[in-house]
Amino acid sequence: MSYEAVIGLETHVQLKTKSKMWCGCANEFGAPPNTRVCPVCLGLPGVLPVANEEALRLTALTGLLLNCTLPSHAKFDRKNYFYPDMPKNYQITQYDKPSAINGHIDFEFGGGVARVRITRAHLEEDVGKNIHFDRTSGVDFNRAGVPLLEIVSEPEITGADMAYEYLNALKDVLIHGGVSDADMEKGMVRCDVNVSVRPVGTEALGKKIEIKNMNSFSGVRRALEYEIPRQIAVLEKGGQLTQETRRWDDAGGITETMRSKEMAHDYRYFPEPDLMPFEPTEAWLEEIRRRVVELPLAKKQRLMRQYQLPAADAQTFVWDRALGDYFEALARKAKNPKSAANWIINNLRAQLAAAGGTLAGLKFPPEYILDIVDLVESRKISSSAAQLVFAEMFSGGEAPAVIVENKGLAQVSDAGAIEAYCDQAIAAHPGPVADYKSGKAAALNFLKGQVMKLSKGKANPNLAGEILERKLK
Ligand code: ADP
Ligand code: MG
Ligand code: ZN
Repeated sequence: MSYEAVIGLETHVQLKTKSKMWCGCANEFGAPPNTRVCPVCLGLPGVLPVANEEALRLTALTGLLLNCTLPSHAKFDRKNYFYPDMPKNYQITQYDKPSAINGHIDFEFGGGVARVRITRAHLEEDVGKNIHFDRTSGVDFNRAGVPLLEIVSEPEITGADMAYEYLNALKDVLIHGGVSDADMEKGMVRCDVNVSVRPVGTEALGKKIEIKNMNSFSGVRRALEYEIPRQIAVLEKGGQLTQETRRWDDAGGITETMRSKEMAHDYRYFPEPDLMPFEPTEAWLEEIRRRVVELPLAKKQRLMRQYQLPAADAQTFVWDRALGDYFEALARKAKNPKSAANWIINNLRAQLAAAGGTLAGLKFPPEYILDIVDLVESRKISSSAAQLVFAEMFSGGEAPAVIVENKGLAQVSDAGAIEAYCDQAIAAHPGPVADYKSGKAAALNFLKGQVMKLSKGKANPNLAGEILERKLK
């Protein structure tokens, strides 16, 4: 019997707000311990939470970006637990009425586009951080109360690589949507990995094992690469799996039992009495809809379709959004957007990188790139001369036509002049001439190169080729 893996991910993301979820303390990473705290986020008795509206907005925005439904009624609940890093001993979260439900995310995987459905996205608060020293431990509450969005997937991810790609796609959505900085180094994205196995061809889900608190995507992939075969091996030996929570030991490369899984009733969820349910108005939602941006995959597909760009170029413009915007502004005026894209990616980007410059600091207007494309396509300059023109334009900001004129780069299409260069090349290189005559077609390219050299790059290369061929017949 062969087995297949079933994976569902619960991803926690810190939202990009100025202040925390229930108080005005700064939502800021890296401050000295316990300097971004107040009675509310320290959980002192008698204080009242006030919901951060921007966090509610970012939650709704994420819901829209993930194709979710935004229920007209959402509420907050208390999840009771012993939290050593949360002095209230409960977390305010959304239990049965989350802010976003029933969405999906599409991403490139295995040569196609995969879709994973999103069960829900709910808003909650982060906890503090325990720090362990040699003989003592401390708690830093700066992180306590930071708005945290939990995005729960359906159990339909089928392997370690797919989980990895799903997480990267989700991170892209969050960053592009302006919802979170999603900085892994700063612990802004963490996830719980739920994984079971079942015999191929069966529907019923196997016993769920949850690997808690993973803070790197490659860690998730490695943990699954270990855990899936471990579960299969247990079943193949006739053993049984039990629902449990496991910990990933990154150094050892193994998972190990942490505790048997608690049930929902262990948390004694009840509606948070200090917060009103949340019922977004149409006007409020309209404002959120205006913040929806085009997502990376959709943008890539559109660029390929709209401008006939190859996948790699479209991807470059997605990754480098400023360069993509620059391209699109120009592409709307271009006869041949594909050529404009080539110049932007192969020349502009390279020169900017070499010079350490920015698009905003460019000395020439974008339309000059189209001028170069025109000069090449109308054969007024050769493509090698175009490289010189671009470099000049980049460093001095002069118009391409002016540079062509000043540097005498206009292509020579005068057959008489080119013929003279061809004669010189043939006379100077009897070896290649003989090679060509004995059937080595490639020798013609060498001779053509010589003609280009003699003409200082100005000969029309096609014409040069034709004339050489004719002369060597
Ligand atoms: P819990 O209430 O224990 O957290 P949920 O049913 O809410 O469990 O699911 C949590 C996550 O676990 C979801 O991402 C879901 O897709 C995933 N999941 C649920 N059952 C399984 C299973 N048998 N195998 C793999 N993943 C599962
Ligand atoms: Mg869970
Ligand atoms: Zn506070």
